[in-house]
Formats: sequence, C-alpha cells, structure tokens
Amino acid sequence: MVRVNRENRSTFLRVKCPDCENEQIVFERASTVVECNVCGRVLAEPHGGKADIKAEIMAVLE
Ligand SMILES: [Zn+2]
Repeated sequence: MVRVNRENRSTFLRVKCPDCENEQIVFERASTVVECNVCGRVLAEPHGGKADIKAEIMAVLE
C-alpha cells in the first residue's frame, strides 16, 4: 500500500550537546534514542512521532 503523506517534510535539527558542545544533526522524528557522538549523552528520545530533543537546537534544516 502506497500512501502519500502531504506533510512529507523531513526536518533535521542541528543540535549542540550541552555537555561537550559537539554539534550534530538529529532527525526531528527520530524513532530511536540519539546519543552524542562524542560523549554519549542522550540528545533526543522518541516521543510519539516527534523526538523529544534534549539538547540546544542551533538550527532547523529542511
Ligand atoms: Zn556530547
């Protein structure tokens, strides 16, 4: 079944880790826990479709 999603905008967020200031890209609708690549701090947790961002959002990339 193919279903066209009219709101098919995949949004990525550039976030900064509050612990080590590493910047990395996080998918706004991350379905798994996203950890900082440097220190392993949790930056985003899945939360009912939209990820719960636990880091400072520097920019929104569409
Ligand atoms: Zn970090």
